[in-house]
Amino acid sequence: MSVLMTTSASREARNVDLFQEEFRRNSDAAIGVFIIRTREVGRCTSAVQDISLTKDDCYYRVWVCNKGWQNYPRPSSFQDASLVDVTKPTGTVEGTIDIGKAFDSICKEAHDGIYVMVHPHHHFEKPLIHQYIKDFVLKAREFDQRLVLIVPDTVKIPIEIEDDLHVMDFRPPSHAELLDCYKQVFEGIDPGSRPDFDDAQIGTIIQNAVGMTWLEFETALSLGIVEMQNLLDGREDKEQHPEDYIKVILKHKTEAIKKTDLLELMDPQPMSDVGGLDLLKGWLEKRAKAYSEEARKYGIEVPKGVLCVGPPGAGKSLFAKAVSSTLLVPLVKFDIGKVFGKFIGESEGRMRQALQMIESLAPCVLLLDEIDKGFGGMSNGGGDGGIGQRVFGQFLTWMQERNNDRYPVFVVMTANNVTGLPPELMRKGRLDEIFAVTFPSEEERIEIIKIHLRKRGHEISDTEIAKVASCTDKFVGAELESIVKDGLLEAYSRKMKAPNGAVIAAQAENMQPLYKAFADRVNAMHEWAKNNAKPASSGMRFEGVSQPKVTGEGLSRPAPGGRMIRRPSLGPKKGGSNLDV
Ligand code: ATP
Repeated sequence: MSVLMTTSASREARNVDLFQEEFRRNSDAAIGVFIIRTREVGRCTSAVQDISLTKDDCYYRVWVCNKGWQNYPRPSSFQDASLVDVTKPTGTVEGTIDIGKAFDSICKEAHDGIYVMVHPHHHFEKPLIHQYIKDFVLKAREFDQRLVLIVPDTVKIPIEIEDDLHVMDFRPPSHAELLDCYKQVFEGIDPGSRPDFDDAQIGTIIQNAVGMTWLEFETALSLGIVEMQNLLDGREDKEQHPEDYIKVILKHKTEAIKKTDLLELMDPQPMSDVGGLDLLKGWLEKRAKAYSEEARKYGIEVPKGVLCVGPPGAGKSLFAKAVSSTLLVPLVKFDIGKVFGKFIGESEGRMRQALQMIESLAPCVLLLDEIDKGFGGMSNGGGDGGIGQRVFGQFLTWMQERNNDRYPVFVVMTANNVTGLPPELMRKGRLDEIFAVTFPSEEERIEIIKIHLRKRGHEISDTEIAKVASCTDKFVGAELESIVKDGLLEAYSRKMKAPNGAVIAAQAENMQPLYKAFADRVNAMHEWAKNNAKPASSGMRFEGVSQPKVTGEGLSRPAPGGRMIRRPSLGPKKGGSNLDV
């Protein structure tokens, strides 16, 4: 069961009810034109139609680009409402495929009604359309008429009509709605061939589906049944394994997330894979306890997240993966750089889409890696006509005002370079703490080396590991991992039964650690950390490092997966190595 649970109130709420409530409230306040952003056109139109059905003598019409306006039936007081199929149009309004004529037709209409236009945004740049919208706003005050423009969730509202409309979001299904969908699909299946899950298993399936649209979930559920049956046929025990089903759901969810091109679901890693960082781990442990209802009653707020600053390869992203496994919620990576689109208004739309998607995935851990690259320099202009600043502003507002109780998102931000990071991003209230994750102490290096040996099926004595730790001062975790890998390869090629400390330590000799190549940056970061961040471990020191003379050779940088690009071998040292290899 996830540590980071949504509150019972938010689990029971149906987003469609919240949407209808907001729509009614604004409609009662005589708002004439609504823009509704959604990925679920069908569910959204039905929700609006339901509202129309509660009104007396109110037309309900829908415009689609290949048919024009279509009228929908409404049961009169003399009819049995259950006999009227309100989903089938009764006819079309001739000559209204053309968007101008479609607007003209409703602007001339003198009857109460709700008029829904599906995806009219392709015409949003036309002044003619702006004028029709403005005309409709005035007319709606005379009649009880509402115009509803349904658009994709990335659409930017033209500035000319921004003040004339009310913008709303029709969100993907909540827990309760996903459960409705689950029940509907399962009720339609013959009991003999339907998987028999208990409540806890159903809860896990729903939890894993959060963020999917109704249709996506419905499809995943149906495919899950087929795939599970295939798996069952191939199993000797003929037992149902709910985890098979969850895998299918997750596969579909990953595909749905991939479509946005902004978010990525990442695999969590256990905290036991993270060496050192005792203070940071202790800090998280306390926060993990702050999610209970009991903590809420005690007056403790839902944690917001943490910024980890430090050199590349120090374990910041690894820590984020371990946060996800500690809190037992999915890890979502958000690549801010991908928000920036080539069309006007696109970037803001994509940021909004990403933030909404993130909330719909809550409870989750959100990893924003290397924010210095995404947001560095934003507070002083950014030099892109203000787009970066606006998008950054959107993000800051979300960080500040998001409803963390309702959509718990634990944010882990990482940065290598702090100069140029906007101070407003780091302000208390947006995040809970800033930690400097820098070079591990000797004791921590021992722990990290052990982890990487263990992960590769080796265990060597502490005395042997100490040989490696003593000659790797200021090596980051990724560099330690790299010398372990190289040490194993070396030991294997020498046909040694198992690697020893000396053979691994020798690998460190051929490697120029990153701190030497980037001493200036490391020093600046350490200087900054002294006043602005907490050390991630009790053994970490924010001391200065010295820059060796650069010869142009030998810069090593961690490559993906912890591999190092090696400097050319310098050959045996004068007098040979004192390490017993
Ligand atoms: P960047 O700033 O470049 O994103 P980072 O600080 O996020 O770097 P990670 O990507 O977390 O660094 O580290 C790369 C790899 O190095 C990890 O996947 C892990 O294998 C290893 N590593 C780093 N730090 C540690 C650690 N403290 N314990 C165990 N392994 C570590």
